[in-house]
Order: sequence, then C-alpha cells, then structure tokens
Amino acid sequence: MEFRDLKRQYQKLKPQIDTAISKVLEDANFISGSQVAELEDALAEYAGRKYCMACGNGTDALTLALMALDVGKGDAVFVPDFTFFASGETPAFAGAVPVFVDVFEDTFNMDPASLEDAILAVKKAGKFVPKVIIAVDLFGQPAEYGRITEIAKKYGLFVLEDAAQGFGGNIRGKMACSFGDISCTSFFPAKPLGCYGDGGAVFTDNGEWAALIRSYQVHGKGENKYDNVQIGINSRLDTIQAAILLEKFQAFCKYELEAVNHAAEKYTKLLKDIVSVPVVKEGYYSSWAQYSILLENEKQRDRLQAYLKEKGIPSMVYYQKPMHLQKAFDGMECACVDLGATEKICKRVLALPIHPYMEENEIEMVAEAVRQKVLYRK
Ligand SMILES: *Cc1c(COP(=O)(O)O)cnc(C)c1O
Repeated sequence: MEFRDLKRQYQKLKPQIDTAISKVLEDANFISGSQVAELEDALAEYAGRKYCMACGNGTDALTLALMALDVGKGDAVFVPDFTFFASGETPAFAGAVPVFVDVFEDTFNMDPASLEDAILAVKKAGKFVPKVIIAVDLFGQPAEYGRITEIAKKYGLFVLEDAAQGFGGNIRGKMACSFGDISCTSFFPAKPLGCYGDGGAVFTDNGEWAALIRSYQVHGKGENKYDNVQIGINSRLDTIQAAILLEKFQAFCKYELEAVNHAAEKYTKLLKDIVSVPVVKEGYYSSWAQYSILLENEKQRDRLQAYLKEKGIPSMVYYQKPMHLQKAFDGMECACVDLGATEKICKRVLALPIHPYMEENEIEMVAEAVRQKVLYRK
C-alpha cells in the first residue's frame, strides 16, 4: 500500500498527461510557455481571486508574499506552532521573528485566542512590531478565518494564508487561497493538487502586490528581464509542470476532491469510537492533504505505527516537533504564549494513508488494523 498513491493517479491520467508533456517537448517552450498563464487564469478563477502568480515552490510563494508585504528586520510574524517548517522558516529568512501560536487539538489549526495573546505579549514587550499572521490550512482544512481576520483588523496586521495543504478546501463555498490578503499554495507532488516536481502559486486581489511579486520572481525585473529595478529571486513554474497541472486540475475538480472526502468520511465512520479522529468544522470543507488521528500517548502511537508497518501499511508522524523547539529557531524570541496543545499533539498524532484513488477495502483494512492494535493489543 502507498501512503499517497501517485502511481495509480498517473495510470488513470496517463494518456492526457503524456500528451501534455510531449507538446511542451515539441514546442520547446520550457520557461513561460502559454500553459503557465492558462493555469494561472484557471486557478485564479477557481479560488475566486483577481491574480494568481505561479512560482517555483510553496516556500518561494511564501517568501514572495512576505517580500510584497515588506516584511523584514524588526517585524513579528505570527505562525502556528504545529505546521510544516516552511511556514516559520520563510519569515525568519526574511529577517523577521516568527512568533509561534498554539493550535486546536481537534482541527489542528491556529487557535485565535492564543493568537491574540501572542500579539498582546509582543506589543507589551515592545521589541518587535506585529506585522503579519500566517494562518495555515493544515492537513487540508481552512483555518478559522472569521476570527483570525477580525483579530488582524483589530491590531492592524496582514493575513497571509499558507494553503500549501489547503488547495480545494472551502468555508461555506468561499475557497481556500481566497482568505488571506495574500494566499500561497504548493504543488509539491504529495499535496492535494500536485505536479511532477516542485511548484507553487501566490494569490491576491491587490494589483500592486501582484505586480511586485511578478517582478520579484524574475530577478526584480522592470520593463523586462534585463531591466532590473529591485533585488529579487528566480522562481517560476516550468511549462512542463503547468501542462501537467492543467490536466490534473481537471481530475481534481471532477472527482478527486470528492473521492478523497469520501475516503475521509469512511475512515471517520470506522474509527471514531476507537481513536480521536480529525474534526471538520460545521460549514468547512477539507481537501484532506492528511488524515491524522490522535492516540492516547506517544507509546501507543509508536506501537501502532510499528504494527501498521508490519502489516505493510505506511503511516507518517506529521509533525514530530513543535516549531518553537526546532533548533533552527534557537536564540530567537519565538515563544511567548503557552504552546501545550501543540506539544501534546506532536506526541500523539499519526497520519494514515489517504488519497483519491484508495479502494474501499484498503480503507477498511487500515481501519481494522488500527482497531486490532488499539483495542486488543495494548
Ligand atoms: C509543503 C508546505 C509548504 C512548502 O511547500 P513546498 O512546495 O514544499 O516548498 C509550506 N507550508 C506548508 C504548510 C506545507 O505543507
């Protein structure tokens, strides 16, 4: 069994994808081919945004967004303590201090009360200026943008949505990648919408930021690539990846998103009386980048993972370490609120295999293995 079966997806989509790749090879328009703009238009429309800029990867997308927001030395950027490293790495890379915020145990997303505590603590200390909130749509579910946006307005902060795992999710029909002043996603192969290498995109409705990002991503270009008006980076999406994504996006909209939700519902039905299952809030829709359960403690989690491995079932611990305990942040003033929920989750969490091409009997087999281990073989 595969954790996320990209081989099965390719077998299903092979004719279209092979044709799309061949066309790029024949046209030899490897950089900035027309497929890139076509993809950007399709994604902007899907997310309900004015501008979409495709770029090299999700980490660059966050970096470009932070550059557009002019984040740097002296700024504080609020980031959930429970997320992939890049969410905290990029503000630190920009010269700001990432300040970590606790999350909810049931949705794994940023706790707005903890966010407000952290903003107040930073203001009180007076060393850094609160500037941006990076809210993460963890494991596919949008963060609580209603409350997060209120807090952002109250204290005059920008919201940057890290939807690397959240593309395709929504809150009452409003799509992921539409919640931030700027929103970012990733097309890393294992994300909900993945390409066959690295890729990412930035979304916004603000024309000024969109123009800045278009410039920053091509060496700070002015009139053209050889007219350079500011210091930028090199971060574009390859035409081949755009062509692949155009095909995969159709499958994503047509049936993949629905199929992965069906798989998650089935897991929840089979597991909810045995372990803590992930909660999708009323009115929220997840794109299920991960299906993560919580065990009672670290020992039970590790034993279950070993047992699943014996049975040929892959599982992953996302994430093993709270952000504030990562060595890379040593010496930065990253933690000013209680981060106890994250610390507990890291010891108890386990992600089970999930993807749109999973068969009913595979889900049943995984659930049965969890049941066996948790109920009968403590
Ligand atoms: C994957 C991921 C990123 C980074 O995306 P890459 O394309 O791998 O650079 C950023 N944030 C989160 C939450 C992610 O899961």
